[in-house]
Amino acid sequence: MCLTIISYNLIIKEAQNFCKNQLKKLFNKGRFMAITCYSLGAAEEVTGSKHILEIDGRSFMIDCGAFQGKRAEADKKNRDFGFPPEKIESVILTHAHYDHCGLLPVLVKDGYDGNIYATPATRDLANIVMMDSARIQARDAEYLAKQANKKGDKFTWKPLFTESDCAKAANQIVCVSYNRNMYIAPDVQLEFFDAGHILGSAFAFITVSGQKRNRITGKRDGVSSTSMSFWHKLFGFKTSKTKGSVVTGEAAIQNNPDDDIRILYTGDLGRIGKPIVRDPAVNMPAPDYIFLESTYGNRLHESQKLAINDLVRIVRRAIDRKGKIIIPSFAIERAQELVYYLHLLVDQKRIPKIPIYVDSPMAANATGIFQLHPECYDEETNEAFLKHHKNPFGFGELTTITSVDESKALNKKDGPMIIISADGMCEAGRVLHHLANNIGNPNNIVLLVGYMAENTLGRKLMDGQKEVKILGDLYKVQADVETINAFSAHADYKEMLEWLKKIDTSRLKQIYLVHGEKDAQEYFSKYLKENGFENTIVKYGENYTLD
Ligand SMILES: [Zn+2]
Repeated sequence: MCLTIISYNLIIKEAQNFCKNQLKKLFNKGRFMAITCYSLGAAEEVTGSKHILEIDGRSFMIDCGAFQGKRAEADKKNRDFGFPPEKIESVILTHAHYDHCGLLPVLVKDGYDGNIYATPATRDLANIVMMDSARIQARDAEYLAKQANKKGDKFTWKPLFTESDCAKAANQIVCVSYNRNMYIAPDVQLEFFDAGHILGSAFAFITVSGQKRNRITGKRDGVSSTSMSFWHKLFGFKTSKTKGSVVTGEAAIQNNPDDDIRILYTGDLGRIGKPIVRDPAVNMPAPDYIFLESTYGNRLHESQKLAINDLVRIVRRAIDRKGKIIIPSFAIERAQELVYYLHLLVDQKRIPKIPIYVDSPMAANATGIFQLHPECYDEETNEAFLKHHKNPFGFGELTTITSVDESKALNKKDGPMIIISADGMCEAGRVLHHLANNIGNPNNIVLLVGYMAENTLGRKLMDGQKEVKILGDLYKVQADVETINAFSAHADYKEMLEWLKKIDTSRLKQIYLVHGEKDAQEYFSKYLKENGFENTIVKYGENYTLD
């Protein structure tokens, strides 16, 4: 048995070394005469989003997310990027979730000093996400060091990054609003389109021009032969956003849209009809390649209407039992959405007035940022709130808690009440204390409203485990555990197909599936093929040629 484990570990190690060596070889080669893409995270998994786009040897990174899940394993993966940061020319950030932006401070600490492109709302939210993580890590390090000291153990663990690394990363972010096409390098244009996932979330639409085909061989000549200077292009000409993308001015003579390669990275794809944010954009020029997320590749969400009915039922049950509802929630978007819905239900008198606590300093900060970016709101939010000079994120029954003392005081208060607290997968943060204090009482309800990655405490609760470890101690799960999936910020597989059908796919050559667990991706891949969309499941470190 022991030998089997050792040999299994050896095989894994060998495989990892092989991938790393392959990557090193690719870097050492220097210039590629083609466009290639490979994934350093979110390949056959849902965290650690990191994709490298190589254009004739120049490297562009799309997202720089942290791995989450099994602590020690995630920590190791987060410390070792497996490639040199100084090779990267630019970073493009699709949105502010930790699994997409969480390692930007590490990248900067390790020597990356280039631009990080993001929408203004993403910049602001990413700043609080990175900072929050740095603070949690610093506190963890302090706590664990003290514990080790008591036992006389040696303690060497250090946080992945510090607050000053976050400040450095923030300083490298260059804001690009939605629908503002711009050159980020010679022959490389970037345009953000609304992804409808969270505030500021964007599809990164990358157009690589000058990839001319040899008229005789039909092959690309590789590095651009365009004589136009970068600066000339940057300030003088613009690509139109109509179908088939017409290039105007001098560029029309020099560049032919057929010579462009257009790559669409969805980041995370949102849903139609979500509150606050707009629906996912469908007005992009036709892409040649799509890197498509697949988190819910094998699942369908309940309808929003049924979900609201479920929420009403759960709140009423807690009121009858005088219990507490603990809702582990992402501090960004989900917390604001829950407040939005509860506000609506109280207004409509579908639920009685009940104290609601948002216990998360990060959620409080995020709410402030939501208020700063009305340019991201959908028409319904404008209609319901802005036009009536109302605050979409505040009402009488709501208390926002930031101090630790106020948070602890909630333990002593009697139900009924609703406590919304981060983090969403129950891996860190104040929600752990609320779970530890309330999970043993059958009058209470734990309401799960987000995606729970494998091996997280949230997933264990969702899977119905009767005993769970919280902050190092074992607890019996006596409280009801309820799940509402309809609040998901990710499209389900039917919604993803619907979106694909709405966009211009006249040039589409291949869809690359990323950001999904194996089962979900296999199901989704088959489903897309049955519906006429060729696709490939991206493997970690494997090289994909885009020509
Ligand atoms: Zn996301």
